[in-house]
Amino acid sequence: MYNRFAPKAITKPHPSLISAEWGDGFTANITLEKLREECPCALCKDEREKKSKEPFPMLKTFVKGMNELKALDKVGNYAVTAKWGDGHDTGIYTWDQLREIFEKHALKPEELKKFE
Ligand SMILES: [Zn+2]
Repeated sequence: MYNRFAPKAITKPHPSLISAEWGDGFTANITLEKLREECPCALCKDEREKKSKEPFPMLKTFVKGMNELKALDKVGNYAVTAKWGDGHDTGIYTWDQLREIFEKHALKPEELKKFE
């Protein structure tokens, strides 16, 4: 299956950043924190759902290693799966979802400077 949203390249230009480039010329950098926040697995979706219903949302709990990307592996030719430093590895990001996340959270050049 050909997918126009399959990125040409995915790189990690900085320990906290992930960068991707698509065939249509769209390139973006996002923080790994955002990639983790948007984890599409059922567990995380559920968690986000619950949080959005809380009248006074609490600060999110930080688990050591949760924003450390250990591995990004291809699933067939339609998705990638992320393995995080806290052991979480059930998220499968389809190319469409990945592109959506990158468009939503793309860092602006001035925001990127913080990571130089
Ligand atoms: Zn998840």
